Amino acid sequence: MSERQLPADLDIESLAIRAGELRTEQMTHSEPLFLTSSFVYENAAQAAARFAGEEPGNVYSRFTNPTVRIFEQRLAALEGGERCVAFASGMAAITATFFALLKPGDHVVSSRSLFGTTNVIFDRYLKKFGVLSTLVDLADLDAWRAAIRPETRFLYLETPSNPLAEVGDIAALAALAHEHGAELIVDNCLCTPALQRPLALGADYVIHSATKYLDGQGRCLGGAVVGRDQPLEEIFAFLRSTGATLSPFNAWVFLKGLETLPLRMKAHSDNALALAQWAAAQAGVARVHYAGLDDHPQHALAAAQQSGYGPVLSLELVDADGNADRQAAWRFIDAMQLLSITANLGDVKTTITHPASTTHGRVAAEEKQRAGITENLVRIAVGLESLADLKADLQRGLQALGHR
Ligand SMILES: *Cc1c(COP(=O)(O)O)cnc(C)c1O
Repeated sequence: MSERQLPADLDIESLAIRAGELRTEQMTHSEPLFLTSSFVYENAAQAAARFAGEEPGNVYSRFTNPTVRIFEQRLAALEGGERCVAFASGMAAITATFFALLKPGDHVVSSRSLFGTTNVIFDRYLKKFGVLSTLVDLADLDAWRAAIRPETRFLYLETPSNPLAEVGDIAALAALAHEHGAELIVDNCLCTPALQRPLALGADYVIHSATKYLDGQGRCLGGAVVGRDQPLEEIFAFLRSTGATLSPFNAWVFLKGLETLPLRMKAHSDNALALAQWAAAQAGVARVHYAGLDDHPQHALAAAQQSGYGPVLSLELVDADGNADRQAAWRFIDAMQLLSITANLGDVKTTITHPASTTHGRVAAEEKQRAGITENLVRIAVGLESLADLKADLQRGLQALGHR
């Protein structure tokens, strides 16, 4: 079995299909699925050499698996990183990065607009082991600078944020981190390398929930970290012993997802931009949050940093009597006939949710207000159905609010 040598400097569309390709003895064309927990040896001496690390090769799928390796090679190529380590979920990737690289007394500055469970890791687990974090507004560079301490080890962010589509300046934050001997971690789940490549902008690590757009069709959980060889070896050592390993089956599904990633992300983005522009002109939509719109405060930054504005937008709704409340949001959502009511995203199916009572339901009222998660806000993760059909569904929502 051998890795196929590819021409240098392939475009992202080609890497998404070809990077990491293996030629098996059977000369399979589709990526082989090695659904095996362990591997066998020719003889006892070979087993001893493999265990001692004196001979390269697979031992046990908690450590390495050839199908998982193809996925890691391909994602590393797409993100432009030296190495990728895959995990059983996005949260496993995030947790392993922190626990492998931080020590008690270290400090992390993070954007406050985060995937909710990432906040739990900061609040409950890192704190318990003596790592403190400070939360700042994603787009406020001065706040990031002011929060840095001598013991700050990482700056951490997601951009664009979910659900309000704020945009953080990756190049500026990478420079700021490096100026202070810290490193920058970017969760690139919403844009994927098809629309945004944080490592090329100076970030040190990219984290993924592969569960979302890398799969793209809502089937499997997985995660990954991409970055330089040496720290990734430490993250891999943590994974080998703690065991949140990606299943080879899930890796195989993600490989099929990656093949169409550039095409899908462009189509998600195009649909989202058109829907955002349409929504902005409707009575009943008080405000649209989407970085592709000219009036978005970080529109220019998003245009420079991303090659598309991404799949997620949110709308602030108001009914025909002028009520901009939870009732309005829920009536709008309940009128959907096509969109799926679910908090998940990263699917070809368009989804709609009410953040204030779902993803942010347990956040204190004050903090919700501060973060802009208003009661009349709905988040839409735009899928790949026809634009006309999506507009018609949102139109049904507006009619339910008494608009024509
Ligand atoms: C879903 C998500 C995660 C967590 O990923 P899981 O695969 O669910 O563990 C992390 N970050 C972002 C931005 C996400 O959307």
